Amino acid sequence: MKKYFIETFGCQMNEFDSERISWLLEKENYLSVQKPEEADVIIINTCAVREKAKNKLYGHIGNLRTLKTSNPDLMICIGGCSAQNLKEKILKDFPYVDIIFGTHNISQLPELILKRKSIKKSICEVKENGFDYVPGNFKNTFPFKAYVPVSHGCNNFCTYCIVPYVRGREISIKPAEIIEDIKRLADNGVVEIMLLGQNVNSYGKDFEKPYSFSELLAEVAKIKEIRRIRFMTSHPKDLSQNLIDVIAQNFNIMNHIHLPLQSGSNKILKLMNRNYTKEKYLEIIDNIKSKISDCSITTDIITGFPGEERNDFEHTLDVVNKVRFNRAFTFIYSKRDGTAACNMEDNISIKEKKEWFKELLVIQNKISLEENMKLVDRNYEVLVEGEGSKGLLEGRLENNCVVNFEGNKNLIGKFVNINIASAKSFYLKGKIIKINDDKKNHL
Ligand code: SF4
Repeated sequence: MKKYFIETFGCQMNEFDSERISWLLEKENYLSVQKPEEADVIIINTCAVREKAKNKLYGHIGNLRTLKTSNPDLMICIGGCSAQNLKEKILKDFPYVDIIFGTHNISQLPELILKRKSIKKSICEVKENGFDYVPGNFKNTFPFKAYVPVSHGCNNFCTYCIVPYVRGREISIKPAEIIEDIKRLADNGVVEIMLLGQNVNSYGKDFEKPYSFSELLAEVAKIKEIRRIRFMTSHPKDLSQNLIDVIAQNFNIMNHIHLPLQSGSNKILKLMNRNYTKEKYLEIIDNIKSKISDCSITTDIITGFPGEERNDFEHTLDVVNKVRFNRAFTFIYSKRDGTAACNMEDNISIKEKKEWFKELLVIQNKISLEENMKLVDRNYEVLVEGEGSKGLLEGRLENNCVVNFEGNKNLIGKFVNINIASAKSFYLKGKIIKINDDKKNHL
């Protein structure tokens, strides 16, 4: 039996693409292995969002040279976002790479592997645009939870972001196909799904007869075997009142919204081409908080964007203090070749950017801890997702907070009720008070 090893960098969409690759290879009788040295085919599914990811990738491909030298029949395949925009460089610097395949060429991988065996040179297949996903054709990594894509690509062109260039324009998957996928997953025992799109809120705008993400979400919520529905990522400019109402009305849509802020300064938001203002963002948050009880809100923030001054950064801090995000994923601006921001004047020193970044972290970590402390001594239903650190189990509350607790591994994939005993900024600790055998049983 042929064996494959796959390594995934980057976001949930990349993780899902790796599930597609696994499905395609296992259909051809490949067996998944956990170590690259055991494989006949190695696939690196790359990310291009940050400079760091690119450098890491080069180091990684470089390390594979030794394996290729000791086993010339080994097939090295590079896919994903960096394959899309760095194909020439990868081909030139790493001639021992066998196949480079783009984000729109995933379904071709098995035939490219066969082709490579019959010819003597490397293959590079990278389409600029397109859509080669067949609904249902993915290997579900976890038996109890699954990613389900609703759209591919993005039309927004935020000036710092490489995604529209490497994943193409937004294409929505038909609602009937998504529903069919989810029903099949539910029949197979999946109880939680994460609907995926670069901007789920603009879902359906490309259909002849427009259909919204809130309509899709309401349809998905009717599948009661799916007890937890999550989605990612929302763009504030497209988040509708209807969406908030649908979340509030359906108990199986989780009370968590990830809403990237990026900056609290209207000047910087404009330079970023985000198409909302600080005031609009705060209005959306007020609306969410007033309609969806105990809704946790997480975000992404960039510090040190070209042109950002202390005053702009203070607007970001102001939003952080007003919203009180449960968690923020914070980044120092990373220049991406080919994006509009790449050519913007940038007068802030890296030292200053790092100081702001640290200041933001200190404030946000304190808020995260205070918000988590509010959950202590309360009981929550938790889906046990796996093993955490120090021999503990790990699961998530409905609001997406992570909790660690003692328990038997056979609880993975089941619902338990947990009493929260203590809190840190990024996770909680708790104790099982009840195992929910009845899948319909909520606290
Ligand atoms: S919405 Fe903006 S940040 Fe998100 S993928 Fe599209 S261009 Fe990138």
